[in-house]
Amino acid sequence: MNVEVVIGLEVHAQLRTASKLFCGCSTAFGAAPNAQTCEICLGMPGSLPALNAQAVRLAVRASQGLGCEMASRAQWARKNYFYPDLPKGYQITQDIHPIALKGSLEIVVDGQPQRVRITRVHMEEDAGKNVHDDGVPGARSYVDFNRGGTALIEIVSEPDLRSSAAAATYLKTLRQMLRYLDVCDGNMEEGSLRCDANVSIREAGSTTLGTRVELKNINSFRFVQAAIDYEVERQTQVLASGGKVEQQTRTYDSQAKTTRAMRSKEEAHDYRYFPEPDLPDLLLTDAFLAQSLASLPELPQAKQRRYVAQLGLSDYDAKVLIEDAEVAQYFEAAVAAHPNAKAVANWIINELLREIKGRPLDQIKLRAPQLGELVALIDVGDISGKVAKDLFAELLNSGEAPRAAVARLGLAQVSDASALAPLVSSVLAANAESVAKYRAGRTDILGFLVGLIMKQSGGK
Ligand code: ADP
Ligand code: MG
Ligand code: ZN
Repeated sequence: MNVEVVIGLEVHAQLRTASKLFCGCSTAFGAAPNAQTCEICLGMPGSLPALNAQAVRLAVRASQGLGCEMASRAQWARKNYFYPDLPKGYQITQDIHPIALKGSLEIVVDGQPQRVRITRVHMEEDAGKNVHDDGVPGARSYVDFNRGGTALIEIVSEPDLRSSAAAATYLKTLRQMLRYLDVCDGNMEEGSLRCDANVSIREAGSTTLGTRVELKNINSFRFVQAAIDYEVERQTQVLASGGKVEQQTRTYDSQAKTTRAMRSKEEAHDYRYFPEPDLPDLLLTDAFLAQSLASLPELPQAKQRRYVAQLGLSDYDAKVLIEDAEVAQYFEAAVAAHPNAKAVANWIINELLREIKGRPLDQIKLRAPQLGELVALIDVGDISGKVAKDLFAELLNSGEAPRAAVARLGLAQVSDASALAPLVSSVLAANAESVAKYRAGRTDILGFLVGLIMKQSGGK
């Protein structure tokens, strides 16, 4: 059988709010267990939720960034189930009336742009976290509720993805989008972005969907790809041996590199959703939505196109610069200081990004306007490219202004002919043989002679 892979992702993104969705508890990462809890997020009887306005603003931004149709009225719902990390016995989420429907995200797979349809975006609260002693005698389990009640959005895609690589690319592109919108920090190690991957296979050319398996709570790009690959292989073998794929929820074991069944369709929860009686419907007025839409920043793909069309960058350079919102911002600030976009782009791509190797840009002492200043010094002929490169390494960590550093170190380029003449003469005199060859027509020797003079002058 010629297999086609079909994948739809459900992505949970933690919104960048200082406090939780329905109470004032802090969302800061890394606090002592249960230090960030109160009667509301612990679900004490009689406590009442109060909606965090900032969470709504961020959820709306995310949905608009994904080009969704926005609801004018969203409704909160209780999703009922029992689990130790869920103190209320239900999660407050949105069911039949989410804040947003029908968006899309453009991804590029193997050089081909592709639009992945977004089914819906809804808001919900996170659960707590179970912590287990590992295999020691008398092992115990604990619950940390710090994360319980944190504001999330869930972004559900249509089953439009056709390979594990496409799924990983979708997740990366979505993360980039959420970071541009300043909605989610995208920190997968801290659990700010997690995904469930729904995977099925079918005969190539078929138009009906195969039975899906849902792979739960994957928290890295690498694992998404590995889990899907394993799952596709497993399902292919099931079909090849005449069996049927069972609709299941499975978990990816990153140690064993396999997926393991958690529950089957028959054991699936009936969540008994019903409208949350403690919260009124969420009304999103036209004025509020319009204001939010108008305040969206320029998004990655639009930025990339503008860099090419307006600033004359190559496709490749534009793509590298927009990869990370912080880098794009840095680039724009440097160009604002010195409008030679191509040269600034080269410096960022070939020197800066290579030098900092993934360190966050805000830890770099050389600020964007200073990089602009450095490029300006080259462009007006105050320093040579070679001096600039040597200086760059130093400025990166010192933060000294380039112009001041050039003056302090006496690096200014010598352009005064009368000062250069003696230097040139002495080099020519010391290389009579090369000079003779040059005179005899070997004009390519010029570069060699210039190089010697450059060296003599200390690059100035
Ligand atoms: P549930 O809560 O049961 O997981 P959702 O509607 O939240 O349901 O999510 C279903 C996800 O599964 C969507 O991302 C959808 O694109 C995907 N999906 C649905 N059917 C298939 C299928 N046959 N193969 C792969 N993915 C599928
Ligand atoms: Mg699901
Ligand atoms: Zn609380």
